[in-house]
Amino acid sequence: MKGIFQLKENKIVFANQNCADLLKIDLKQLIGLPFLDISEGVQQLFFTNILNHLNIGELEEYQSEFQLKNGHNELGYYTIKFDRIINENNENRILGTIKANLSNPKEIENYIKIDRRYNSLLFNTLDGVYIYDYINEYIVDANSAAVRILKYDKKEELVGLPRSKFVPESSPFFPGINLLKYTDTHGDKVKRGESFSTHGIFKSKDGSQVLVKARVVPTFHKYGEGFVMFQDVTDVVQAQKALKSSGKKYRYVFENSHEAIVYLDLKSQKITICNDNALSLFGASNLEEFQKISFNGFYLEREDEKAKDEEFAALIQKTIAEERAEVDFWIKSKLGEIKRVKAVLVSDTSDKRKPRIVAFIRDITSLHEAQLALENKNTELEKYIASNLELENFAYFASHDLQTPLRSIISFTQLLQHSLKGKISVDQQDYMDFIISSGKNMKTLVDDLLTYSRVNTTEIEREEIDLNKIFVSLCADLRSLMEERNVKIDFINVPGKVYADDVKIKQVFQNLFTNAIKFTKAGVEPNIQINARETEEFWYFTVKDNGIGIAPEFQDKIFGMFKRLHTSEVYEGTGIGLAIVKKIIEQHNGEITLESKLGFGSTFSFTIAKELKKPNSNEGTRLNIN
Ligand code: ADP
Repeated sequence: MKGIFQLKENKIVFANQNCADLLKIDLKQLIGLPFLDISEGVQQLFFTNILNHLNIGELEEYQSEFQLKNGHNELGYYTIKFDRIINENNENRILGTIKANLSNPKEIENYIKIDRRYNSLLFNTLDGVYIYDYINEYIVDANSAAVRILKYDKKEELVGLPRSKFVPESSPFFPGINLLKYTDTHGDKVKRGESFSTHGIFKSKDGSQVLVKARVVPTFHKYGEGFVMFQDVTDVVQAQKALKSSGKKYRYVFENSHEAIVYLDLKSQKITICNDNALSLFGASNLEEFQKISFNGFYLEREDEKAKDEEFAALIQKTIAEERAEVDFWIKSKLGEIKRVKAVLVSDTSDKRKPRIVAFIRDITSLHEAQLALENKNTELEKYIASNLELENFAYFASHDLQTPLRSIISFTQLLQHSLKGKISVDQQDYMDFIISSGKNMKTLVDDLLTYSRVNTTEIEREEIDLNKIFVSLCADLRSLMEERNVKIDFINVPGKVYADDVKIKQVFQNLFTNAIKFTKAGVEPNIQINARETEEFWYFTVKDNGIGIAPEFQDKIFGMFKRLHTSEVYEGTGIGLAIVKKIIEQHNGEITLESKLGFGSTFSFTIAKELKKPNSNEGTRLNIN
């Protein structure tokens, strides 16, 4: 006959009829009975130890022969097998099978009787065990675990010690208690034959204190003698303390985090905890109000409720499967505000019975708006760039194709004027003059536009160029203009050779010189000074004139296309020259700046990078468009 029973926290929660019959206890009485009640003495202590180990998982199973007290108060011998099991609710249980062992009761009896004190099973446990004589006050025997826990070297050192040697008078663990006096009560209990559990403090050999959980059981074969079985729980207590303080730390983070923190219970699909940030993010005034918002009722991307639910369910599944998920979505607060939030969801399965998801949510509405604005700007910019590139191409082809008909208009009008000389009125002559001069103006504009387009569309070709040669050729080109205005040019510290694009650099100086000659003050002899110095990375040039100068408010503008400060009647021009200069300087990885005071001349300063780095022609194009 084999009985089966189940223990929960050492109480019999299930037993079959066989079990009741074997133990001669009514089945109804058996259910709910602490298992230790059907044992006594050493056996009781031993069971405590075994069940303890099974409960915490240090033992998976244990089988042995035991002496139990049946319902008629008789001692019987049984073989019991304990198995640690985890039931469907994830709870620890101990499953026991029991059968009466009548095969060799004598042997067992002897085994227990002869050497109760030295029960080898007991003494081989991981827990500390000693036998204490509460009448004569000394340790009678101790196992190796007790020696180890109390930091002695060998058993002999421990045996014979009175309580005062291994129990301290006081301890920070039990403030205000005289422990020696307190443990006197233990002796009283043992003398009365009572078993009991307690917490206590031992003083180890090196003086340190060890916090223990102990069970004391009278040995019964000698009056006033007890087994003391103990576990060192110092670490456990300290860990609990640390846990408490880490709990405090956690609470601090929880309450002071910049993020909204929300716990979602997966079983009930309800929010169970949230911090103040979460309340204000969702416009709820307390947790109860918050709980009324169903999580999947949030304003996720879709309007359609069903799609929203599906999306939410998928998000939860993903979090559970991958342990973490990140998502951006819209929410509508209770106050009706629409906010964009970023949520990091973490699955928390530390408590198997209560799986939940912790969501760390951050309001990113302004960030999102800024991102959108930036994206829009980028799209606009791209469109702008594209249209400007188109415009440049158009300018190139238009100006190029306009050249021939323009030339024809001018030259045929001139021919017409010539052949009709004397046959037409003065007014008619003037009209033709006007056509010719307008045609010439237009030709200048078209030429300048073409130059600008060419500068833009051709990459620079750097080579070692001789600046002196450029200046000589420029002066030759501008000679008549210079002579006409009596212009004096001083070249100061000008380097001979630089590494640059020959044609383009000539264009830069040509435009700057032309302007310096053009925008002169009446009655002042124009003087232009070209100066240069070099740094490790750049050539640094200045072109200074003593002309009309430029008012501060226009100094930035004049580098733009078609930006002119005067009409063509006063100073002729197209407003493209400085735009070309700026473009070329940028192609040489340089910069151009202007210093000027209205009426006191202008100084254009620019740099040319010495390094050979190829400028990004596209970038250059983009930068210059405005
Ligand atoms: P343009 O010379 O064909 O008018 P630019 O682009 O070369 O076009 O110059 C733009 C404007 O900047 C000029 O119309 C003029 O008003 C001003 N400017 C340029 N250079 C000088 C200078 N050296 N002194 C005074 N004003 C200048």
